[in-house]
Parts: sequence; C-alpha cells; structure tokens
Amino acid sequence: MSTNGNSASDFAAERAAMVEQQLRQRGISDQRVLEAMSKVPRHEFIAPQHSKIAYADNPVVIGEEQTTSQPYMIAVMLQAAEIKPEDRILEIGAGSGYQTALLAELATKVYAVERHPSLVDSARSVLDRLGYKNVTLVAGDGSLGLPQEAPFDAIIISAATPQIPPALLAQLADRGRLVAPVGDVYQQTLQLARRMNDQILIASLEGCRFVRLIGEQGFME
Ligand code: SAH
Repeated sequence: MSTNGNSASDFAAERAAMVEQQLRQRGISDQRVLEAMSKVPRHEFIAPQHSKIAYADNPVVIGEEQTTSQPYMIAVMLQAAEIKPEDRILEIGAGSGYQTALLAELATKVYAVERHPSLVDSARSVLDRLGYKNVTLVAGDGSLGLPQEAPFDAIIISAATPQIPPALLAQLADRGRLVAPVGDVYQQTLQLARRMNDQILIASLEGCRFVRLIGEQGFME
C-alpha cells in the first residue's frame, strides 16, 4: 500500500468504489455506462494537485474557472442519451475531456466542442495519450453545433443553457436524443429531448447545477 501519493492500483480501487457507491447504488443501471465508467481513468483528466479527489462525489476544478461534473451527473446524462455502439455523438462543453472519453467508449465517433482553446489542448493531449482515435475536438462556440457533421444520434450539452439551442435540435437525427441542463445561472433541470420525425418530445429528468453555456444560443458572456 502506498503511504504517499496514489498509485495506479489505488485509483483502480477508488474508481470501482465510485461506480458501486455513487452510480450503481443510486440507480444507474445501463451496463455499458457502468463499464465505461469502470474503465476510463478520471484522474488522468484532472491536474495532479487535485487527483486525490478525482473520484469524489462532486465536481472537480479543471482550469479556466470550469469544472468536470460530478460522476453521478455524467452517468445520468450518458444513460439518458441511450447511446448505441454505432452512434455518432456531439458533445458541447468538452472541458477536461473526461466525458468525451466515456462517449468514445460508448459510440463509434465523437465530435466534441469546447470554448476555451487551452482546455481543448489539454483534453486533446490526454485523449491522445490514452489512445482514443474516434474523437474530433473542436475549439469554438458549441451552442451553434457542428452543422457540417450533422446529423447526430445523440447530443450532450454539459453546460447550463437558458433554452435548448434551436441550432442543436436541428442537428439531431430522427430518433436522436439530446440531453441538456436547462434553466437559469443558479439552477437547472436536466432535460431529455427526442426527435420523432418532425416532432420534438421533451422530458424533465432531475434538478442540477452546471457552469454556463456561453455563446450565441446560450448565455451572453
Ligand atoms: N464534460 C466536461 C464538463 C466541462 S464544464 C468534463 O467532463 O470536463 C462545461 C464546459 O463547457 C466548460 O469547459 C466550458 O468552457 C464549456 N463551454 C461553455 N460554453 C460553451 C460553448 N458555447 N461552446 C463550447 N463549450 C462551452
């Protein structure tokens, strides 16, 4: 047992405990989501000075005044998105790249947009180091989506938005799912939108609190 710092095996034990206590015992039942979260090394996406709390039951700071979400909230979003192995995914707010890696485990291709170029650079270097080849990271305003790569089978917005950006709904494939925290700056409700032919059906999942989506179809700077 290490007395000083965390070895890879400590992290593996912490990750297994996270999946069991924070996810499975709280009702996350999608086996593929549980497997992906058992596999992806969350501590690799977090600066060394915070790696002791990488698997804690809360958000963790990642720089640029942003956080990677609480693992449970990420699991809720991934489960709600009903991702299938053949799906093409769009993620808005890639941040550390942790959720991007999970999506890369679950789907065939992930496009991830992040507003801060410095976060794009660090996410890209971790994802490259871990060997993810099915991810394209883009720096820019994700509230407008990536029309040139649309349609997407699932879209996950990892930042609070006053409304689901119409540009993103327009990039959802038929039977596609979009998950987003919708509300004001202080509190939001996780919403699941599903396209059925020309109809959009919206369900409310649970209360949450995310950092802001800042952009043309999100909050103003
Ligand atoms: N899933 C990420 C969470 C990051 S927090 C993770 O696991 O680390 C939300 C991120 O959304 C922040 O990094 C923030 O910079 C980014 N963001 C905010 N507005 C954005 C926009 N319009 N386009 C793209 N990214 C945005």
